[in-house]
Amino acid sequence: MTKTRVARTRSTAVRPAATGPGARSSAPPGQRGAIGATPAIARGILDALEGQHPNAFTELNFSNAFELLVATILSAQCTDARVNQTTPTLFAQYPDASTMAALEPETLEPIVQPTGFFRMKSRSLVGMARALMADHGGQVPASLEALVALPGVGRKTANVVLGHAFGIPGLPVDRHVLRVTNRLGLVKSDDAVVAETVLCDLYPPERWTLASDTFILHGRRICRPTPQCDRCAARQMCAYARGLGASAPRRPRTMTAAARPARKTRPR
Ligand code: SF4
Repeated sequence: MTKTRVARTRSTAVRPAATGPGARSSAPPGQRGAIGATPAIARGILDALEGQHPNAFTELNFSNAFELLVATILSAQCTDARVNQTTPTLFAQYPDASTMAALEPETLEPIVQPTGFFRMKSRSLVGMARALMADHGGQVPASLEALVALPGVGRKTANVVLGHAFGIPGLPVDRHVLRVTNRLGLVKSDDAVVAETVLCDLYPPERWTLASDTFILHGRRICRPTPQCDRCAARQMCAYARGLGASAPRRPRTMTAAARPARKTRPR
């Protein structure tokens, strides 16, 4: 399956919400750049990690926005590799919102069962497809507000779709991004929306999507729950490695939120 790459820079940046989806906000005092992480330090860290993980991109396979939306919904509490094993069969039978909207959720359950939470995910997929048919002419909308209004679509999923299918800057925060950026001293919070706000303040919009992809890859390969600091390109700048006390959140809040794919995640 072809993985679609899009231009990473467009003028329509999607900032974290303060009072509603897409609204501009600032990080709460004391939560910006935990250990003296100025934009210059943050830039140096990201430069180093992008050098270590060149061409980082989502590892989900897709060829259009609908497929990426479906794959991202299925990826909750599941590996991208497992999702990529599941979606070819799914997309061959139900390639668009029209065909998926006509189903009853139970029809999808045997196909998506390997990704876990299959009843909830089947309901989300059919509900999402029906909403696309009812409200968007069967097309995936290219706005955060419209995406998070779809069943099963939270802020992280919406930002993944915006950044990778439409080239609209967004910074998805998952458990890897939370762990890595807290250790680095860029963020001091286990709240995904707070972390997104802090990181969007530290980096320009044209770097958001790639920053998220890079932190995710770093969290999967190097800065794992047991970090391999001797292999890390950013260790000289890392608060955790320098013993300054920035540690990973024990139970990132995004994990519990992301574990409920059928629930609409509203910005706090
Ligand atoms: S130095 Fe260690 S803790 Fe810091 S980002 Fe690298 S792997 Fe993670």
